[in-house]
Amino acid sequence: ISRFEQPINTRVFVVANQKGGVGKTTTTVNIAAALALKGLRVLVVDLDPQGNASTALNIPHAEGTPGVYEAIVEGTDLDELVKPCPDIPGLTVLPASIDLAGAEIELVSLVARESRLDRALQTYLTDCAAAGDRIDYVLIDCPPSLGLLTVNAMVAGREVLIPIQCEYYALEGLGQLIRNIDLIRAHLNPKLEVTTILLTMYDARTRLSAGVAEEVRGHFAEKVITTPIPRSVRISEAPSYQQSVITYDGTSSGALSYLEAAREIALAGARKGTAR
Ligand code: ADP
Ligand code: MG
Repeated sequence: ISRFEQPINTRVFVVANQKGGVGKTTTTVNIAAALALKGLRVLVVDLDPQGNASTALNIPHAEGTPGVYEAIVEGTDLDELVKPCPDIPGLTVLPASIDLAGAEIELVSLVARESRLDRALQTYLTDCAAAGDRIDYVLIDCPPSLGLLTVNAMVAGREVLIPIQCEYYALEGLGQLIRNIDLIRAHLNPKLEVTTILLTMYDARTRLSAGVAEEVRGHFAEKVITTPIPRSVRISEAPSYQQSVITYDGTSSGALSYLEAAREIALAGARKGTAR
């Protein structure tokens, strides 16, 4: 297997869209799997109390399992919480359990409530690098809201990856998402930038998908990944086997398109060498 080039600095992606069901988790899991399978070191931060990314990567996350809640609310070191994905070398996960559902409210009364994930993550990344184990990519899977958990992700991250479902109303809500990102940039994280748009659940047979793709490209131009992710039964089946689509059926169109999308992302990083 040809390897993907390492970025100059660790790239931290926030996978966000306050709409549910647009492919955030699927994209996080499969882009992370693709990057790791191509030789890079990848950390997935599951920031959704549903824990779907943890499930898909075969990481136990039953209620009471220590994970991202302990990191951001209790200040536990990530070192004690991050678990290796058993099926994919180089891929590690900070899991989420349903306990995280309370964090949205508990965070309100904590000091530095917007930057708790940032603090924890930066310490961990520094420690890993010092130990000679530098992480190349971090992907943060956000919940379907713009609450404090998503704010924490946007303060901790540098690049925003927005998955857009190729359906009617796809662009609805995007304005609000962009305005929130602008607010975060103005007040909390000047380095935050929307760098990557991924079209998901693309159906090449419909004019609707083509129309959405055209409109999104009109807005976001070269930030849109060339390869759209097709609607695929294999992609939707894989999580029920605790697998990425690439380890579940590596020759399926879904697997190939996520590998291709990941290659584009890695190439962009090798060119730009985004810091942090
Ligand atoms: P989100 O995290 O934004 O809520 P998910 O990634 O969980 O969205 O996707 C929502 C649902 O759509 C899931 O059941 C998932 O398996 C399915 N899905 C996601 N991407 C695809 C795709 N390309 N083809 C078919 N089903 C998909
Ligand atoms: Mg999700």
